[in-house]
Amino acid sequence: VARRLEKFNSSIFTQMTMLAIKHGAINLGQGFPNFDGPEFVKEAAIQAIRDGKNQYARGYGFPDLNIAIADRFRKDTGLVVNPAKEVTVTTGCTEAIAATILGLINPGDEVILFAPFFDSYESTLSMAGASIKTITLHPPHFAVPIEELKSTISKNTRAILINTPHNPTGKMFTREELNCIASLCIENDVLVFTDEVYDKLAFDMEHISMASLPGMFERTVTMNSLGKTFSLTGWKIGWAIAPSHLSWGLRQAQSFITFTPNHPLQCGAAAALKAPDSYYVELKKDYIRKRGILMEGLKEVGFKVFPSSGTFFLFADHTPFGLQNDVEFCEYLIKEVGVVAIPSSVFYMNPEDGKNLVRFAFCKDDQTISSAVERMKEKL
Ligand code: GLN
Repeated sequence: VARRLEKFNSSIFTQMTMLAIKHGAINLGQGFPNFDGPEFVKEAAIQAIRDGKNQYARGYGFPDLNIAIADRFRKDTGLVVNPAKEVTVTTGCTEAIAATILGLINPGDEVILFAPFFDSYESTLSMAGASIKTITLHPPHFAVPIEELKSTISKNTRAILINTPHNPTGKMFTREELNCIASLCIENDVLVFTDEVYDKLAFDMEHISMASLPGMFERTVTMNSLGKTFSLTGWKIGWAIAPSHLSWGLRQAQSFITFTPNHPLQCGAAAALKAPDSYYVELKKDYIRKRGILMEGLKEVGFKVFPSSGTFFLFADHTPFGLQNDVEFCEYLIKEVGVVAIPSSVFYMNPEDGKNLVRFAFCKDDQTISSAVERMKEKL
């Protein structure tokens, strides 16, 4: 393997799902729903295949989908963007992240990450030869240490990568935090790359897009996807919204990574984004109920659970059960209890920082969540 990837193992999510299958354990690890996306969306994709939408789509997106993305962004943020110049459809948000980093970051540029972070940020920055600076967010509130951020920004800082609602903690960046980050970015001429794939799973507070803050659109790449919101993670349809001078860079990268995402599923995605607001209301209601089942369950089992305002994850402290660290705890949980969670050390530059923490996903039918809780009550 190339040196730039030597330090990374295969994705923790794939590893844990394989273990879940091997041990017949209930999978609250990898964040994918165990229920299917809406019929009308699937039908639209099937129809697109029948209608012959089977050759390459336009490089930066099937036109109707670019328009639907721009419409939703306008509804959500009030910002009017040009669908042909400022919206790029990607193969999942993971490709939006890759194209943004590879298209806009030079080797040696500094990029600031908040730990814990989603695993692909670090590996993709490493592929780009970026110099990674991390700032650790600490439980229970995972608040942004603004003074530390100030002192971490240097003349070589090119971008700050944020993720709100935040995987794995469920934290949502507050308006105050976003304002502070924004003014530091403007002052120091720094870009923001923001991963907002859980924006429709914001439960206790309003989701705020960094791009909507004054002066920020021109320096922000907003990334999102269909997978979480429409329970279609396997479709791998995502997008990046950015002013044309930034979109140009990320499109250059994308055109040599995948060239263009899957055409018929982009047609399905365009139908999905035309869903009435009631769809999002129902989705949120369902997830608030699921969060409640898992939150109460984990507390009864004896975990210390941190508050989660968004995403479909709960972050918990496993130390009451007396195992050495997160990896040992998760191994015990799979083999002796029959439940899969994600060990959190993978979300940190320094694995030690995550050794007391594990992540549980509640994007599962209610019965599955309850069964996992029952197993833990019995055997932990
Ligand atoms: N985003 C999902 C998670 O955090 C899955 C990502 C993946 O499997 N690469 O679990």
